[in-house]
Amino acid sequence: MSQPGAISPRPRVVIVGGGFAGLYCARSLAGADISVTLIDRRNYHLFQPLLYQVATGGLSPANIAAPLRGVLARQRNCRVVMADVTGFDVPGRRVLAHDGGRDCAFTYDTLVVAAGVRHNYFGNPAWESWAPGLKTIEDATRIRAKILSAFEDAELETSPERIREWLTFVVVGAGPTGVELAGALAEIARRTLRRDFRRIDPASARILLVEGSERVLPMYPPDLSRKAQRSLERLGVTVLTRSLVSDVRPDGVTIRSGDMATAVGCRVVLWAAGVQASPLGAALATACGAELDRAGRVVVRPDLSIPDHPQIFVIGDLAHARDASGRPLPGVAPVAMQQGAYVAKLIRARLDGAALPAFSYVDPGSMATIGRAAAVVDFGWVRFSGYWAWLLWLFVHILNLIQFENRLLVMLQWAWNYFTWGRSARLITETDGTARHPPSSVDG
Ligand SMILES: Cc1cc2nc3c(=O)[nH]c(=O)nc-3n(C[C@H](O)[C@H](O)[C@H](O)COP(=O)(O)OP(=O)(O)OC[C@H]3O[C@@H](n4cnc5c(N)ncnc54)[C@H](O)[C@@H]3O)c2cc1C
Repeated sequence: MSQPGAISPRPRVVIVGGGFAGLYCARSLAGADISVTLIDRRNYHLFQPLLYQVATGGLSPANIAAPLRGVLARQRNCRVVMADVTGFDVPGRRVLAHDGGRDCAFTYDTLVVAAGVRHNYFGNPAWESWAPGLKTIEDATRIRAKILSAFEDAELETSPERIREWLTFVVVGAGPTGVELAGALAEIARRTLRRDFRRIDPASARILLVEGSERVLPMYPPDLSRKAQRSLERLGVTVLTRSLVSDVRPDGVTIRSGDMATAVGCRVVLWAAGVQASPLGAALATACGAELDRAGRVVVRPDLSIPDHPQIFVIGDLAHARDASGRPLPGVAPVAMQQGAYVAKLIRARLDGAALPAFSYVDPGSMATIGRAAAVVDFGWVRFSGYWAWLLWLFVHILNLIQFENRLLVMLQWAWNYFTWGRSARLITETDGTARHPPSSVDG
């Protein structure tokens, strides 16, 4: 094994993951007399909250991603390594990785693991082939191809029953991502594609949003859930609460509500129903006995370190941390960003021989959008919905995008989309053939 790069006499901080948590940690270490190594398997930071816009053709992938090297170019104490971390040698204080066919290792004095989460198919991994989740750019472009291809295939189909299958879209899970996807799908069908086809009527598409609990956006107060459901229904989404998808097949799903199971013929199923931790959580458990919760997240101490290993921190979605009243913190971007900044501050404090109080999360509130001019906002002390909530949602998302260029491009693109009802990134770029299924019969 080799360690690429020069060995530094300064304290070495290795950060695994350039998402919100890892990147904010690295940036908050700027100027410190520390050698920082940020390792990520991809060369860009991804703004996941806007992935659904890529999946539905509203934005292009480059609008919501920023190259990590570019973001950290001016930070002299930080280097970026593109490699896939595979495990940890805790006694040897090394991160083990794989980089373009080579094994390599990175020695640390302090380790920060921020590798995030993946989709959870609740014991049915085979469903992933037919019901992709939304987590990466590749997922988003694959979903985009599936959605747009369904309209193309419906246009070539002659059997009404098959056309109905192509034009039935099922979104599983009515958390913020599921609600955003369902709303955007309804707008694509009813507005964007309205005049684009000659045989089918895209507006006849059925969009089913399936949620296991009793309301959409279950983490929001009930009145906002009700408003969100009304907004979805106005857009033409059929909301099925207290319902579970119990089977996913290439040509349909089974939806179970109480004792009743209904088979629904459809070709596009989108999964927005749960997460499980990155396998690096289990790797830490093996390497240093870290405790995992049911989703595989690493249970951390109040200062976000692992018990008995004060030099190893786990932050962001991969961490199971609790607030002052003992409730687990949600897997959202503000938690990840604040944890990244906190750990950086703690590392600096320790270098000065000082200590810090435990991490404490300041909740800035939460928001979700439903289509192009409706959203719900919950600040705790005030909550509202509708157009003004949507404008605030736009503002907050533009503000939080990394890189000025992205902010400007997204603002212009959204303004254009708003006035034209357009979604100009409606490209089918999937080439591996999984997105399209041949129509049963074609009448050219
Ligand atoms: C579709 C979607 C919509 C969302 N919407 C919102 C929203 O509206 N508001 C909100 O607050 N939050 C939202 N979230 C949640 C938010 O994006 C996450 O809470 C946040 O990204 C967590 O940051 P993180 O740094 O912990 O993980 P991530 O951002 O997932 O970053 C993890 C990083 O680790 C890297 N990595 C993983 N494994 C390895 C490995 N083995 N080797 C090297 N690198 C590795 C990955 O490439 C990635 O860059 C959304 C999430 C999704 C998926």
